[in-house]
Amino acid sequence: MHELSLSSAILATTLRHAEGRPVRSVQMRIGAMRQVVPESLDFYFGIVTRGTLAEGAALEVDYLPARLRCGDCAREWEPELPLFRCPGCGGAAVETLSGTEFGIEYITVEEEEEAETPCIAPR
Ligand SMILES: [Zn+2]
Repeated sequence: MHELSLSSAILATTLRHAEGRPVRSVQMRIGAMRQVVPESLDFYFGIVTRGTLAEGAALEVDYLPARLRCGDCAREWEPELPLFRCPGCGGAAVETLSGTEFGIEYITVEEEEEAETPCIAPR
């Protein structure tokens, strides 16, 4: 259900940026710490976009690994599981460097077709 509300949020943002033009694709970055299930997100995105300008648009997601840094010894690591103690010194002053991203990078839309014949009317 997490993915359903995310899909609705993605759709709302996409349609706002599309400004009435049909959407071909949506490019996103999502961090591993968001715990998004890619198949679920695709599934719900397909449902929420039905009947909208984003119907049939491709959802293209870069899933980014989580990356943490210890505030005590500056060690950086990519946790397999959410792990908030430094594996180097055991310190708990851990800072999240990446993994919480959730945003649309850009969308592509269908532009109006250019006229086949030049416009003879003065502009
Ligand atoms: Zn440390």
